[in-house]
Amino acid sequence: METMMRRRPRPAALALAGAATLALAACGNADAGGPSTSAGDTDACPGEVVDVVVSVGQWGDVVEALGGDCASVTTVISSTAVDPHDFEPTTGDIAAFQEAELVVLNGAGYDHWAEDAATGVDPAPAVLDLADVVGVETGEHADEEHGHGEVNPHIWYSPEYVQQAAEALTAELSELSPDAADHFAERAAAWEEELTPYLTEVESLQAGADGRTFAATESVFEYMAEAIGLTDVTPEGYRESASNEAEPAPGDLAAFQAALEAGEADVLVYNTQTEGGVPEQLRAAAESAGVPVVEVAESAPDDAGSFVDWQVAQLRALSAALQG
Ligand SMILES: [Zn+2]
Repeated sequence: METMMRRRPRPAALALAGAATLALAACGNADAGGPSTSAGDTDACPGEVVDVVVSVGQWGDVVEALGGDCASVTTVISSTAVDPHDFEPTTGDIAAFQEAELVVLNGAGYDHWAEDAATGVDPAPAVLDLADVVGVETGEHADEEHGHGEVNPHIWYSPEYVQQAAEALTAELSELSPDAADHFAERAAAWEEELTPYLTEVESLQAGADGRTFAATESVFEYMAEAIGLTDVTPEGYRESASNEAEPAPGDLAAFQAALEAGEADVLVYNTQTEGGVPEQLRAAAESAGVPVVEVAESAPDDAGSFVDWQVAQLRALSAALQG
């Protein structure tokens, strides 16, 4: 059964979504995606090149940046046309794990299929579960169907977690290829440097966050909003159903629309990768109430550049909306 909160890329024209429209849209994505690989360079790497498989694109770019010449990185979900929450790996996707020396997981129930795939490999690769690294517990693989369960798995939206994850990645790569440790240390320093505009943007948002509010169509941006210090005024009932990917009750949707009309939120944070009638109604309510809409995405759009470029662009849009 389709729910309105199900994620998928935006079809060019999605009419006010009836079930038939949604079913057609879902079939259109069948051939999108597939693993993408960025090869290391055995000549340039002072040690052994590590074969890494990364479950999702949110981390694939970071691992490539940190691995440099000394990692060959295969990213299984490399396109926003694939919904990480509903992902079912193909045999080709599973085959990508066969040669892996390191498997990088987001964890927190977000990509349990990759954890399962890594378990089936002999000899077993090292597994780095980034949610474990940053201390976000999985709480029972919560809801296998929907991924979100009780914890918020969108840890790549936390500046603190991103930095902790990067440190753990560098340490793990250095352990697997000790002769390349200097290379990994250089890559880590370069990446920290690359992170500067992102951290600067977060700081400047923090400086102006006092008393500012947001409401969100779903939970993807929560860690960042928290880090910035914005107050979440998303009505509780709606927020709970959205984070469980359940249909909000009509009263919860109405409460959200009323909050927007009353000007309670300074911005509406809108996840472009959540399709459906409910988010669209909220967007319309925000627009008619003159509340700026800030678009964020589950994973980097194909033309977004690096992880940092993608995040910085979103943060600048938020900043502009708050200053608006
Ligand atoms: Zn999500």
